[in-house]
Amino acid sequence: MIIVKTVHQLRKALKEARFNKRKIGFVPTMGYLHEGHLSLVRACKRGCDVCVVSIFVNQKQFGPREDYDRYPRDIRRDATMLVKENVDILFIPSNIEIYPNGYLTYVDVENLDSVLCGKYRPGHFKGVVTVVAKLLNMVQPDVIYLGQKDAQQVVVLSKMVADLNFPVRLRVCPIIREKNGLAKSSRNVFLTPQERSQAPILFQALVQAKRSIQNGEESVSKIISFIKKKITRFSVGKIQYVACVNANTLQPLKVLEGRVLIAISVFFGKVRLIDNVIIPIKKKKS
Ligand code: AMP
Repeated sequence: MIIVKTVHQLRKALKEARFNKRKIGFVPTMGYLHEGHLSLVRACKRGCDVCVVSIFVNQKQFGPREDYDRYPRDIRRDATMLVKENVDILFIPSNIEIYPNGYLTYVDVENLDSVLCGKYRPGHFKGVVTVVAKLLNMVQPDVIYLGQKDAQQVVVLSKMVADLNFPVRLRVCPIIREKNGLAKSSRNVFLTPQERSQAPILFQALVQAKRSIQNGEESVSKIISFIKKKITRFSVGKIQYVACVNANTLQPLKVLEGRVLIAISVFFGKVRLIDNVIIPIKKKKS
């Protein structure tokens, strides 16, 4: 595995692959890797000739009172994991490499960034979209791999790629979970033992909601209140939101139809956990 720290080194490392028309796959991450990230890396290895992973904790997507400073970091451990996966290139740029002094340019996906998580994290998606746009220009991959864990991020980035004509295909990989259902996340290390034992309630509530929709439940408000009650009753989690939206447009649903995304965000102490399920609903025959 080649480790590169600058855009110049990255382009040099990719020059031959590009010249030989090799298929380049890219997995952007913020590091402190877990099986969720590795599932993206493995999909990239299966689907492409060259696998590039980036690790960059992007300050611009953290709010002033969010956890940028204490976000977990361990580059050595991450690099060892990526060597085992036979990753070709690891890109670990510095802040100044990504945002040189005097940096002024941002990419904003309107509307989609002000719902769900965006409503509570102003500026977050602007930061995400800007850094991914920059990373795409740096790596110029054929395929970018993203996790369904961050459902809104997938929708926002798909729109950015389409609207700005980025010549890249987007592959979305399923959510990887602990055995108890808790979605893997770099932030799970901050959960206390009690919070960690209660956090799987998020997934359990989503699974039960999904089942009840599949069994014929049609009311959006009943589904939302069921999930809220379940989480409040069985955990110390403080709900930020529970939402039922169209999975493609992220617009709130009045009627359960089409590709339904149920997305939730819950605080366990200072740790904000997100999770989601997608439920395709067939149109009823009239
Ligand atoms: P992050 O390091 O949190 O920015 O995540 C980097 C990528 O890994 C994003 O595309 C995430 O959606 C994806 N990812 C994070 N956790 C998981 C998970 N549990 N399952 C699948 N993908 C994940």
